[in-house]
Amino acid sequence: MTAIVKIKRYFIFSNDRLLVPIEADLRSGVEMLANLTQDIFTEYAEQTVHIHVNEHIEHHLVDMQKEILEHESVRSISLREVVMMMPKEDFQHVAQAWQYAVFLRTHQFCGRCGSRMDRVSWEMAMHCHTCQHRCYPRVSPCIIVAIRHGNKILLAQGERQKESGFFSTLAGFVESGETLEEAVHREVFEEVGVKVKNVEYFNSQPWPFPHSLMVGYLAEYDSGDIVVDGKEIIQADWFDIDNLPVVPPKFSIAGRLIEETQKRMLEKSV
Ligand SMILES: [Zn+2]
Repeated sequence: MTAIVKIKRYFIFSNDRLLVPIEADLRSGVEMLANLTQDIFTEYAEQTVHIHVNEHIEHHLVDMQKEILEHESVRSISLREVVMMMPKEDFQHVAQAWQYAVFLRTHQFCGRCGSRMDRVSWEMAMHCHTCQHRCYPRVSPCIIVAIRHGNKILLAQGERQKESGFFSTLAGFVESGETLEEAVHREVFEEVGVKVKNVEYFNSQPWPFPHSLMVGYLAEYDSGDIVVDGKEIIQADWFDIDNLPVVPPKFSIAGRLIEETQKRMLEKSV
């Protein structure tokens, strides 16, 4: 009988950056993290958090928090670089480890009684032994929607995109007690004052900035004129699908929603 050789990958975070081997090609994905060895983080070895992937792969989270590791064999990269450069599935592994790191950092003390919390060994949770309160990593659902009307798509610009001139699909957090579809109708109406119909689920994407789950929808315009809210959205317009402004790249769900809308319009015009 041959023993199963497990691949171990180390997700080491320092502040909000991921450590990678100095000469790693980010396009090769998380594979490169198997080349990090324990001798570079000996001091943190006891705090390593094991994340089960499958019988062949083990992920280990090492959170150095504010410490900056200076070691000749590593460099640090931002999560934005990870999302831009790594294959999508690999980004999701990094996103998961990062979200666990954020969860552990922000749940040191019990939100109910203030006692120190302990990590649960068999599931990703923090537990308070004083009052038995248990917390799990937070996931915040956020809808994102591409609205089409004839051969035009509604795109908007928020305060933060003002400088870059970037336009994107509308997005917003789901409120307590609301369905995802209700959130689509409410957010669209609040942000740009129009009503939509034929809301259809498209796809989803974990977005670890810091713990969103983007739930993508396609919708058709129903009624109303664009009136921007002036708070979250500063500018919005109908853009001809063949003449788009600067839009999000295809690794993001916004980029893929725009691409899908374009596809639907082409199908319709044939
Ligand atoms: Zn407690």
